[in-house]
Amino acid sequence: MKKKLIVILYCAALLMTATLFANNQSAVSESKSLLRCGIARTDITPTNPVQMSGYGSRKGLSHGIHDPLNVRVIAFENKGKKLVLVSTDVLGFYGGTAEQIRSVLLDRFELAPSELFLCAIHTHAAPTVTMNEKTAHPNNVEYTGILTKKIGSAVETALHLMTPVKVGAGRGYSPVGMNWREKRIVPSSAGSSQTVVNLGRNPYGPTDKEVLVTRIVQSDGTSIAAIFDYACHATLLGGRNYQISGDLLGLAEQFVEKILGKSFIAPAFAGASGNIDPWFRVLPEFNTEPGWIPEPVLLATLLGEEVVHTFRKIDTFSEHGEIRTLITTLKLPAKESKDFMPSEPRQAELTITAAHIGQIAFIGFGCEMLTEVGMAIKKASPFPYTFVITHCNGAAGYLPPADLYPEGGYEVQTSHFAPEAAEIVIQQAGKMLNELHTD
Ligand SMILES: [Zn+2]
Repeated sequence: MKKKLIVILYCAALLMTATLFANNQSAVSESKSLLRCGIARTDITPTNPVQMSGYGSRKGLSHGIHDPLNVRVIAFENKGKKLVLVSTDVLGFYGGTAEQIRSVLLDRFELAPSELFLCAIHTHAAPTVTMNEKTAHPNNVEYTGILTKKIGSAVETALHLMTPVKVGAGRGYSPVGMNWREKRIVPSSAGSSQTVVNLGRNPYGPTDKEVLVTRIVQSDGTSIAAIFDYACHATLLGGRNYQISGDLLGLAEQFVEKILGKSFIAPAFAGASGNIDPWFRVLPEFNTEPGWIPEPVLLATLLGEEVVHTFRKIDTFSEHGEIRTLITTLKLPAKESKDFMPSEPRQAELTITAAHIGQIAFIGFGCEMLTEVGMAIKKASPFPYTFVITHCNGAAGYLPPADLYPEGGYEVQTSHFAPEAAEIVIQQAGKMLNELHTD
């Protein structure tokens, strides 16, 4: 009897130990699968006059600061897998600067190429980012060196200040973006008429009104960031402006941060906006003297308010979001061009970077994608929230859909890609998103 009791007690003890062990194991694996996140924001406003990019007609250097520029970094980590999202208040990383800055960051922080989204908000009121000492103004080369260091410091801060977080996403809608492919009927040389597409406003053309927001909340309940994505050019101030500004997306970032708190960051990402302008530009009489604020701020406030509304409605969160990332560089068919020798295959490269955190997908394109292409990618995605991000990890120019080629227009004329390229990109993006979605 006594012996039997001892056996039972021994078995019970074993069972308890096994249960405790199992619980510990589960606690360990749960704590390991927790999503962590770090954030950083660094001022990148130029301190000297610089060449500004976005308008060929604008000569001379900047004079004055309308509003500050920043780089905003959000770094996620789960089970050793990282995702670093960098939103920079500049036009883009052209002329090989994306590759150069990425290479510095990838080496320094031992990131896989697919773990880094180096993106620009495409503001047309920021310094030209260039390392070309032969063609650029020395102030711009100096600025780009400082910018590279500042982006590095911001990424370092974000990676070193990680805390457990939970994330949720939501969608709002904004009318701020307007299709710019204005169609006009003009007399043709043969005496009849023809339709031409100009840069203007086309209220009947497609726009993607979706405002996507990711809300990031610490374990103590404090919200620390809102990532937002909207398809519109940051061109409110136009080509006559010589003041530095984040323009539409930069001003919206500043508005959201003003509402949600100083230590809060709101990095913007430009959606598929290759043919989308703000609903209006400032009047030609726009006064660029410091202190003249209302016109450019008006539409940015409208967009910022929608970001805040959407942010506040997000009430479902996950703290166990798995991170997966993918990157590929496609060799796409290019247009006929004198730049290619007849014996060479006509190809234009485009880098696509895809990542997900749980049910939220981010897909970045190193080009300026027209809005129809971005909407098709969202439709092909198996994720409930797909942040289509342009000006990301490269700068390959406009990517129009095939059906716009016969119409012509600025984006079609200046694109390096052949008409069939967009469909290949849509297929490849869908494939990558589906690959991320399957366990
Ligand atoms: Zn553009």
